[in-house]
Amino acid sequence: ERRLRQAKRILRKFANDCATPVAKLWNIADDLASKMESGLSSEESMLGMLVSYVAPLPTGEEKGIYYGINLRGTNFLMIRGSLGGKNLPISELQREEVAIPSTAMDGDSTKELFDLIAVELAKFISVHSEIDGKAESRERKLGFTVSFPVEEDARSSGTAIKWRSLSVNDIVGKELTNDINRALEKHGIDLWVFALANDTTGDLAGAIYYSKENVASITLGMGTDVGYVESAEQVPKWHGQSPNSGEMIINMQWGNFSSSHLSFTEFDASLDAESSNPGSRMFEKLISGMYLGEIVRRVLLKMAQETALFGEWVPPKLATPYLLRSPDMAAMHQDTSEDFEVVDEKLKEIFEINYSTPMAREIVAEVCDVVAERGARLVGAGIVGIVKKLGRIANKKSVVTIEGGLYEHYRVFRNYLHSSVWEVLGNDHSDNVIIENCHGGSGAGSIFLAASQTYNA
Ligand code: ADP
Repeated sequence: ERRLRQAKRILRKFANDCATPVAKLWNIADDLASKMESGLSSEESMLGMLVSYVAPLPTGEEKGIYYGINLRGTNFLMIRGSLGGKNLPISELQREEVAIPSTAMDGDSTKELFDLIAVELAKFISVHSEIDGKAESRERKLGFTVSFPVEEDARSSGTAIKWRSLSVNDIVGKELTNDINRALEKHGIDLWVFALANDTTGDLAGAIYYSKENVASITLGMGTDVGYVESAEQVPKWHGQSPNSGEMIINMQWGNFSSSHLSFTEFDASLDAESSNPGSRMFEKLISGMYLGEIVRRVLLKMAQETALFGEWVPPKLATPYLLRSPDMAAMHQDTSEDFEVVDEKLKEIFEINYSTPMAREIVAEVCDVVAERGARLVGAGIVGIVKKLGRIANKKSVVTIEGGLYEHYRVFRNYLHSSVWEVLGNDHSDNVIIENCHGGSGAGSIFLAASQTYNA
């Protein structure tokens, strides 16, 4: 009894520390908006705010059959799709995934990788060439998007670093583009890559094809990032030629955001200190799929140590970092059975906790709730910050698309996210911000890039 009260006290304190009342969310949104602004004028800023795309954006009128590649670290996806213009949905979508042997990814040279891509792409195209018929006379572009999982990032292999922060100015990106084009030519493929783009850029291009009201795309899975449309004149640090449309896509790198308004608990602090990149990516450590379960585990460990939540012992597995993954956390959190049977099952399966009382399980579910609610509401504040930076809160509709496993599969997290945006904006403005799941699925963004570069060039 007394022990249970102690555990509840830890829970209450933790919940208090994690609280995100509307006033706080506004402070965070404001702070993000102002850090976006400073990131657009200076190279040295907390947020990367990389100019990641200055080529034509889709108008929705693009027609034809297009090809794209989505490079993902351990594999790449080849995609083909047909666009009908008039914002008609992508059709006849074909995808094929190819594993990348580790030798092709480890070294500094990308020759082996690009040769592999060219060879596979040539096969993929020839399979479809009968249906596609002769290519149009326009020069056709191949869309090329890159998405790297966060672990890849942390491992920092030579190649991963190269791909990590693609920006338009980047010499490395240009060299890679040239290398890819050489490989394509060598293998007789009459497509060429205009530029490499981050996958959020591709998602956003896809969203814009469907509606001009799409202003930002968020990736929310293991890691997190945002691409959004900015008008060129708002980007003092850009010295290159301005695009005809007057608009460019900025890759925010919002995982790096930090603010005095974000309250970090002792658990967040120790997670960060023991991580492979202490002090960086603080926002990501509060909101992304890689970390949510780990925060929960740290709270449960403290409870086990100080209150004997699971009996007189501290289950050894509970001390293993990153053992609790967000899908399992979600399953425990969303357990609606009497006596929390799913929680019981997961505790056994993951931590070898073979006996737990229903009260202890309820506390576990509560901890998941606190962590998910905070993470989701912070994403909500981030969305409001972006829309505010764009000056669209009061008078324009804005659509924000979200892609990624955390958002797509964690229902309660998604609900908290949506309601936080409504709550922050209030009755007057909440109708102006619409959050949607990304169209077309992961990787399809490359098709839209190919289309807008071919069609609108
Ligand atoms: P990526 O690893 O490239 O981010 P995804 O966008 O598919 O790939 O996201 C996968 C991540 O989403 C997982 O690592 C996990 O953190 C989270 N996720 C997937 N399914 C669930 C789920 N059912 N509940 C909670 N989180 C999930």
